[in-house]
Amino acid sequence: MAHNAQEPLRRRYLPGCLSGETIAGLAMTEPGIGSDSTAMTTKAVRDGEAYVLNGRKMFITNGPNGDVFLVYARSTAGPGKLSMFIVEKGFPGLLRTRKLKKMGMRSSPTGELVLEDCRVPAENRVGGRA
Ligand SMILES: Cc1cc2nc3c(=O)[nH]c(=O)nc-3n(C[C@H](O)[C@H](O)[C@H](O)COP(=O)(O)OP(=O)(O)OC[C@H]3O[C@@H](n4cnc5c(N)ncnc54)[C@H](O)[C@@H]3O)c2cc1C
Repeated sequence: MAHNAQEPLRRRYLPGCLSGETIAGLAMTEPGIGSDSTAMTTKAVRDGEAYVLNGRKMFITNGPNGDVFLVYARSTAGPGKLSMFIVEKGFPGLLRTRKLKKMGMRSSPTGELVLEDCRVPAENRVGGRA
């Protein structure tokens, strides 16, 4: 986010992330595709002044308790293009479906996120509007 996000996004989200007030997460992994990001199925479709995101993200660190997530999705903005979106926990359509039970690393909660017609303001697309 520090390198790729536009100035207003950096100003809005980074101070809280750096102070620890905001708990952040990164949502790339999906059920069924593992580490093969080229097979990512989460979609982002532009709808007026927002993108509508649909998909599932698995094994997300801070998924159960995070305030803001950097979500990877396949955008229709370009052929096969992957985009990143900053999604706040309060955005309608972002669901935290479950906290996963792990053998260790229990102080770091891991969970599943579901995006169900999740509307994300177009300016929250990292790298600018397409
Ligand atoms: C505690 C925990 C926290 C996590 N936190 C996050 C998070 O915050 N955000 C997030 O997005 N993800 C997170 N993950 C997911 C993690 O990044 C994935 O587990 C990882 O990408 C591996 O995916 P996979 O387990 O499905 O393995 P797979 O991708 O199925 O791979 C299985 C094995 O096959 C090998 N392999 C895969 N593809 C190939 C290939 N083409 N050629 C040769 N070998 C290959 C791999 O090296 C691996 O050894 C977390 C996972 C855990 C366990």
